Amino acid sequence: MRLLVVSNRLPINVAEKEGKLTFQQSAGGLVSGLSAYLASLQGASANSEYIWVGWPGITVEDDLQAEVKSKMQTTFQAYPVFLPEDAMEDFYHGFCNKIIWPLFHYLPSYAIYDEAYWTQYKQVNETFCAAVMDIIRPGDVVWIHDYHLMLLPLLLRQRMPDVPIGFFLHIPFPSFEIFRLLPETWRTEILEGLLGADLIGFHTHEYTQYFLRSVRRILGHQNDMGLIRMEDRVAKAGTFPMGIDFDRFNAAGKAPEVLKEKGKLKKTLADVKVILSVDRLDYTKGIINRLRGYQLFLSQHPEYQGQVVLLLVVVPSRIGVERYQQMKRQINELVGEINGKFGTINWTPIIYQYKFLPFYPLVALYGVSDVALVTPIRDGMNLIAKEYIAARTDQIGVLILSEMAGTSKEMVEAIIINPNDTAEIASALALALEMPEEEQISRNQVMQARLKRYDVIRWSGTFINTLLGLQEEQKIFAPALLGDNREALLSSFRRARRRLLLLDYDGTLVPFTEDPLAAKPGDDLLATLATLAADPRTEICVISGRARDALENWLGSLNIGLVCEHGAMLKQKDGAWKLIKPLMNNWKPRILPILERYADRLPGSFVEEKEFAVTWHYRKADPKFGSALAKELMDDLLDFANIDVQVLQGSKVIEVRSAGMTKASAGQYWLTQGDFDFVLAAGDDWTDEDLFRILPRNAYSIKVGLTQSYARFNLRDYSEVIALLEDLRRIE
Ligand code: UDP
Repeated sequence: MRLLVVSNRLPINVAEKEGKLTFQQSAGGLVSGLSAYLASLQGASANSEYIWVGWPGITVEDDLQAEVKSKMQTTFQAYPVFLPEDAMEDFYHGFCNKIIWPLFHYLPSYAIYDEAYWTQYKQVNETFCAAVMDIIRPGDVVWIHDYHLMLLPLLLRQRMPDVPIGFFLHIPFPSFEIFRLLPETWRTEILEGLLGADLIGFHTHEYTQYFLRSVRRILGHQNDMGLIRMEDRVAKAGTFPMGIDFDRFNAAGKAPEVLKEKGKLKKTLADVKVILSVDRLDYTKGIINRLRGYQLFLSQHPEYQGQVVLLLVVVPSRIGVERYQQMKRQINELVGEINGKFGTINWTPIIYQYKFLPFYPLVALYGVSDVALVTPIRDGMNLIAKEYIAARTDQIGVLILSEMAGTSKEMVEAIIINPNDTAEIASALALALEMPEEEQISRNQVMQARLKRYDVIRWSGTFINTLLGLQEEQKIFAPALLGDNREALLSSFRRARRRLLLLDYDGTLVPFTEDPLAAKPGDDLLATLATLAADPRTEICVISGRARDALENWLGSLNIGLVCEHGAMLKQKDGAWKLIKPLMNNWKPRILPILERYADRLPGSFVEEKEFAVTWHYRKADPKFGSALAKELMDDLLDFANIDVQVLQGSKVIEVRSAGMTKASAGQYWLTQGDFDFVLAAGDDWTDEDLFRILPRNAYSIKVGLTQSYARFNLRDYSEVIALLEDLRRIE
C-alpha cells in the first residue's frame, strides 16, 4: 500500500540563505505515528510507504523549484506544493486563520468574511489537487489533514472516483448554530467537499455529531450510526481521538539529553514547586485566563508566595497577525503586573519565555514540573496534556486540564476545570500542589496505560483500516443494474415451486403523483397482479406505507396479501386486517401539532394522519423551501425519536411512526408463511432497505432507482418493474 498524506504544511522545514537551500525534517507526532504505523505493516506487505504532499513552508522562487522538488522526493518522501506569497496571504492568513480557525473555536466575532479569502481558498485547494494528481497511482490511499483542505476530498473524488480518501479534522467541528454563520455557498461547498472523502474523522464524539447535524441541516443527508448515504455513494463520519507517540515521550523521560537538562533546571528551580504552561501563542489557548487564575491563587494562598514558580512558555505563532500581536502585548502586561505585584528580590513568580522549545528541552520541562496547567478556552485535542503525562517516567505530577479541550474526554483522571472560572483554576492549583504523591501516581498510571494503548500508531492504523473497510461497504451499496441477471431471474421463477413477490407500492408499482390520493392503480397493473396471483404457486404481498383504507380501496379486490403503514398491520388473502405486533399510538397528540406547524409554514404541504403514523407531505410545495423546511423538521423530530416512535424521511415525505413497525418485520412474517424457493422484493424507498437487509441471500432484491442500496440489483424506475412483472406473468 502507498499512502499519500496531504496536509497544508510538509513536516520539513526549508530555509533559504544566500540562494542556498537547507532542509530539516520536523518530528511532529503525525510523522512519527505514520512512519511507525507503516513500519508495522511491513511484515504484511513489503512495500508499504508514504509520500507527504504539502507546502514546504516558504515561497520558493521558480528557478529553485526543481531542486526543491527533487531533494524532497529523493530524501524526504515528500512532494512539495508551491504557492505564491499572495495566495498564502488570502488562503492561510485569510480564510484558514481569520475565518475557519476563530469560527470553529467558537469565537465568531473574530471572523472576517472576506469573499477574496474564499476565492483563494478554493484556488489553493485546486492547486493541492493538481499536485496530488501529479503523483497519484492506482492502488494509492489518500489521507488529507485538517481545515486548510476541506474542499480537496471532493476535488479528488471527481478525478479519481475509486480511490480511498480519508479526511481528518484536527480542530473542533462546531455546533450547527456556529457553522451556519458561514455564507450559504461556503458552508455547502465545505460540507460537500468533506463528503468527497470516504471517511471523515474527528477527535471527539461531539465533533462528529455536530458535523452530522450540519450535514443533515444543510445538505439534507441522513445518517445511520455515522454512515451517510448520498445518491451515488456512502461516506462515514467517525471519532478517532488522536494519540501521541507514547514510547518516544516515555523513553525520552530517561534520555541522557533530558537528564542533563533536568539536572540544570533543578539547580535553578531548587526549593520551589514548578507549574508549567506551554502553548502556541493563540487566543484559543486561554493563556490570559491561566495567568489570572495564577494571580488569584497567589493572593488567596500567601503561604505559596516564594514557594512556587509558573514557567510560562509561549511559542511564537502566526506572527504579523494583528490579533496575535495584541494578545502578546496583553500577556507581557499581565506577566509584568503579576511579577511586579508579588515578586521580591529573591523570587519571580513567573518565568516567561517567548520561544519554541525543541524536543529534549521540552521533555525536560515536563519532567521537572510538579503541575501542568492546560487551560484552553477551546482546543480540538491538546497534545501538550498527553505528552506531559507520557513523559513522566516517575509517574508523579498533576495535570490540570480544561474541559474545553478534546483531551479532557480521555484524560478524566486529571483535575478538570472550566477555563472561564478563575476561582476554579486557583483552587485547582492549590489542590494539585497538595495532592499526595500516591494519588498522583495512581491517577497517572491509569492515564499512562491509556495513552500507551491508544497511541498515535494505533490511531493511524485504526483510521486507515476503517477507511479500507469502507471500500467493502461501498461495494455492497453500489448500484448494479439487473441487466444480465434478468434471464436468470425469469428462469428461476419458471422453475420455482413456491414463489413470493414482496412489492412496494408508490414509486415501485405506480409513479409518484403530486396528490398522493391520486396514485390509483391502473387497470393494466391490476390485471397483471391478478393474473400473477391466480397461479397457486405464486404469493404476492404489497407492502406499503399507505393507510389501510387506501390499500383496501385500490387493491382489496385482488387475491393478494397487503401490509399497510410500513408493517403496522397486515391482511392475508381473503383475511381480515390484524396488527403484526402490539403497537402504541398514544404519542400522536404530541407530534401532530409539530407537523401541523410546518404544514402552516409551507403552502402546498399537508399532514396525513394514519393509525400508527403521522406524515408530512410536501411534494406539491415549492421545492427549495420544502427541502429547507424538511431538513429543519427532521432535525426537530430527532429529539422525539425514542422507544415509542421512529422518524423517517421518504421521498418528499417525513413520517413519524410507532417504533417497531418496519417492512422487515412484515417481510419476515411473509417469508415464514411458505417454503418459498423464489423470493423477489422490489422497492424504491429508505423503508424498503429494512426489508432488503433481512432477505435470504439468494432472493432477488431490487432497488427502484439508480441509487445506493442494500438490494442486489437496481431497476431504473417503476416502468421497468411493471415490464418485469409482465414478463413473469407470461411464464407458464
Ligand atoms: N511543542 C514543541 N515545542 C514547544 C511547544 C510545543 O515542540 O516549545 C509541540 C508539542 O510537543 C506538541 C505541539 O507542539 O506536540 C502542540 O500541540 P497541541 O495539540 O498542544 O497544540 P496546537 O499547537 O496543535 O494547537
